[in-house]
Amino acid sequence: KTTLAQTDPQLHEAIQLEFSRQQRNIELIASENFVSPAVLEAQGSVLTNKYAEGYPGKRYYGGCEFVDIAESLAISRAKEIFGADHANVQPHSGAQANFAVYFALLQPGDKILGMNLAHGGHLTHGSPVNVSGKYFNVVAYGVDEATSRINYDELREIALREKPKMIVAGASAYPRAIDFQKIGEIAKEIEAYFFVDMAHIAGLVAAGLHQNPVPYADVVTTTTHKTLRGPRGGLILCKEKYAQLIDKAIFPGSQGGPLMHVIAAKAAAFGEALKPEFKAYQQQTINNAQALAKGLMSRGFNLVSGGTDNHLMLVDLRGTGTTGKEAEKLLDEVHITCNKNAIPFDPEKPFVTSGIRLGTPAITTRGFKEAELDQVAEIISIALKAKDDQAVQDKARAMVKELCDKYPLYA
Ligand code: PLP
Repeated sequence: KTTLAQTDPQLHEAIQLEFSRQQRNIELIASENFVSPAVLEAQGSVLTNKYAEGYPGKRYYGGCEFVDIAESLAISRAKEIFGADHANVQPHSGAQANFAVYFALLQPGDKILGMNLAHGGHLTHGSPVNVSGKYFNVVAYGVDEATSRINYDELREIALREKPKMIVAGASAYPRAIDFQKIGEIAKEIEAYFFVDMAHIAGLVAAGLHQNPVPYADVVTTTTHKTLRGPRGGLILCKEKYAQLIDKAIFPGSQGGPLMHVIAAKAAAFGEALKPEFKAYQQQTINNAQALAKGLMSRGFNLVSGGTDNHLMLVDLRGTGTTGKEAEKLLDEVHITCNKNAIPFDPEKPFVTSGIRLGTPAITTRGFKEAELDQVAEIISIALKAKDDQAVQDKARAMVKELCDKYPLYA
């Protein structure tokens, strides 16, 4: 058996460099995580060789009896985790899952009501640069300027006035719990579909640490790679009455052959999510977010909405003399990875921003606990406050190294 290092040293080196970066840096990108060796093994398996258009037991190709086992495991585990009637595990990504939901339930030109991207929503919830904004007539709800929390009264007013065919809930940069039951009641009142994209919080939901949208929504999607800690990909859950429509919207509607190796990796991750250790991990992720938030606020930083209920927070950098773009770069220089992020009512352009988004799923997988998160807050504080001070930057890098060496990745 030859190795990649032998057959393609150039590519092998790129992969090794990325592995070293993941080991060296404190990963605070809220949408990222480190999968288990079991998930990596399933994804790197021979299942990548197999064409399996269709669904278990109803394929358009021969030889699918074993990939059927893998897909059936993924489906039954996903249904069990979230208490759903039906699961489709084939979406190649979160965006593909969302596209399929629109394709299944709407016609071009229909009206949808989604969360404003500038207030924490996602591109696929109606942004003009996305298919969802091009094919549909979009109205948006957002957060209250004073509290930075979703304004449910305004959401209801817009819903009653605009009568959208679908309400979309879920967010990419919202640090507070979302009341899916309340939004579901508004959707019922106007007889609209209720679609929840729980991508960011799916792991918390799986662990029972955030309200589960499945009982309230017609359809729920998620990515599988964020707090849920599986391979990159998507998942759709729905009520039985939409099962056929959703399945057809994925195949043949918008995808061809499913990625069976990724589906096997989803099955592995869903199996892990059903174990008691997963709940403890999610609770630690939340505890760590609380510790980081407290550590930053005690060092003088403002957080959007004054804190967090989940795995992420937005640091409001207005008035500090540092933009989100600059902060992302300064932190990267000391080996802390995060992303600049617009804050609600941001005076800066989207490519500059006045905020950074920080999340704890990845470092919690690594083993960091509350004491380490206070250290992370200290590093962020000194790195951002001493912009041009080389000695401080060296000190920050050394502190990062000490923490990362203490909790090695894939040790
Ligand atoms: N939905 C939400 C709420 C997200 O935050 C994201 C990813 O950032 C997506 C969907 C898209 O997922 P993917 O990148 O897998 O297409």
